[in-house]
Amino acid sequence: MGTIYCKCCARTTEFLTIRRTMQIAGVSRSTIYYWMKNQWVHWQCLPSLRRVICSESLCVCVPGNDTHKFKSYSKLSKSEDDNRKDIM
Ligand SMILES: [Zn+2]
Repeated sequence: MGTIYCKCCARTTEFLTIRRTMQIAGVSRSTIYYWMKNQWVHWQCLPSLRRVICSESLCVCVPGNDTHKFKSYSKLSKSEDDNRKDIM
C-alpha cells in the first residue's frame, strides 16, 4: 500500500489492504471485517472504494504478535500486494 494520514493515530502511518492484513495477521476476511465493525482497527476507504487498514492499529489487535516481526514482514512482502486476484 503506502502511507496515509491516519486520523486515529494523528500521524502518517502505513496502510495495508485487507488481503495483506489477512496474510500478516493470519486471520480470515470475516475476522477483519469484524475488527473494522468494532473499530478495533483504524481503517479508511480510498477514493477507489478500496478499504485499507492502519498497520499501527493492527499491531495492537493481533494477539501474541510481535510488533517488530510484523513490521519487517509487511515491508518484505509489500511489492506483491496487487498482483493477486481476489478469489473471494
Ligand atoms: Zn491508525
